[in-house]
Amino acid sequence: MTETIAPLQGSLGEAWDRVRRRLRAELGEDVFSSWFARVEIGGLVDSVAYLTVPTRFLKSWLEAHYAERLQVNCQAELGAVNGVILSVRQVSRDSAPAPVRETVAVRPRSAVAAPAAASAEIRHGEAAMPCERDIVDACGTLLDRRLTFENFIVGKSNQLAFAAAERIAAAPAGSTPYNPLYLHAGVGLGKTHLLQAIAQEARRQGKRVAYFTADRFMYGFVAALKSQTALAFKEKLRGIDLLVVDDVQFIQGKSIQQEFGHTINALIDAGKQIVVAGDRLANDLEALDERIRSRLGGGLVVEVGDLDETLRGKILGGRLAALHAAHPNFHVNPDVVAYVACVVATNGRDLDGAANRLLAHATLSGQAVTLETAEAAIRDLVRTREPRRVKIEDIQKLVATRYNVSRADILSERRTAAVVKPRQIAMYLSKALTPRSLPEIGRRFGGRDHTTVLHAVRKIEKQITEDRMLHDEVDLLKRMLQE
Ligand code: ADP
Ligand code: MG
Repeated sequence: MTETIAPLQGSLGEAWDRVRRRLRAELGEDVFSSWFARVEIGGLVDSVAYLTVPTRFLKSWLEAHYAERLQVNCQAELGAVNGVILSVRQVSRDSAPAPVRETVAVRPRSAVAAPAAASAEIRHGEAAMPCERDIVDACGTLLDRRLTFENFIVGKSNQLAFAAAERIAAAPAGSTPYNPLYLHAGVGLGKTHLLQAIAQEARRQGKRVAYFTADRFMYGFVAALKSQTALAFKEKLRGIDLLVVDDVQFIQGKSIQQEFGHTINALIDAGKQIVVAGDRLANDLEALDERIRSRLGGGLVVEVGDLDETLRGKILGGRLAALHAAHPNFHVNPDVVAYVACVVATNGRDLDGAANRLLAHATLSGQAVTLETAEAAIRDLVRTREPRRVKIEDIQKLVATRYNVSRADILSERRTAAVVKPRQIAMYLSKALTPRSLPEIGRRFGGRDHTTVLHAVRKIEKQITEDRMLHDEVDLLKRMLQE
């Protein structure tokens, strides 16, 4: 396995120091020390750099604001890097037998302000819910106390998933009712909630549970490779009764996928239960190794469907009740709950967001929540959920960056292949993602004729049906533009 670590000039640590120096020079001392000082490198595997940070907040901030800059600088110093993955550093805790409730790690909320050394400050930046104590699984992942079966609201769209999850959590160690269980659903429909609930309930019953998000799994493996304890990592996994892996669509890198595949197979063969969640059908996880897909698809596969309005109302009601418990002056009357559940029609994450908005609004204004204030408080939330308007200019910029040409090249008369292809892709995307007419698109592409645009659109349409890689690439560009 170790041969998959890319050879570097000097050690990885030295190369990382150079990346840090670049970032400091580019961004200045202030920005650097706010955001990058505590980023560490875990390893470089299959051209993906694995970086770790102490808090979840820092991870999302860096992902949202500095993903590209990190990637560019890693590329400059670490060689062929085609991805950067950030994860929150593991709480260092070894695999003591499944702790019972009394031995859970106790960490007061105030610890979020503690210095970086406090590795348990994993929840930094996640507000809203009171949670005085954290629960830690057999591999050191913190489990979220709020995400339990009791707090999960069952409706038509999730009852099967809920039943399977409960059944698995309740089954005695060594018995594997459905193996593996693969849950899939779009964002915010309760996958993580159910997985965490399974992990916590199983753990409560004394089972040894390892809960991983994809990035933690990858990081665990990379860190093990780096310190040459990959075997110990695998052994540790073999010692558990239940492996839970969330967001499997993000597991990437050939050797890590292989490792993941071996782990699943070994555990299933040893009669251990596996539960995995992903954002689509196992077979549609294009980036994942074929064998893993078929293994995941070969167990019990359950989809969690969209939340209907009744379910949304109940979920929102539950959130508001929890907020009320922590803020006794905060009340929301049923009319308002019904209104919000009607207009925030997307998913549980947005309902959480809406509940937090209402609380913020009520606290800041010191006034009771009415229909009018609720409407104002969640207005932008509702608005941001409308499909984003994509601009032709943004398409041109993104495509230019992706293909390493300038936007001026795309608009120019140049006809070299290096420019023609990105130009055609940009035209195709403009047709697919904006309401602009062909003549209008032609004008925006340096005053071209509409037949040129039509030709480009047809050509790319045809090519993406024939060329899988191009298809995926165009698909990725689409998603990036629509995000
Ligand atoms: P996913 O992992 O599928 O993206 P999450 O499990 O993170 O979604 O759910 C997003 C939010 O919605 C969480 O706060 C979760 O507790 C809440 N949620 C989703 N479905 C339910 C449900 N059926 N009952 C209670 N809360 C739910
Ligand atoms: Mg999730």
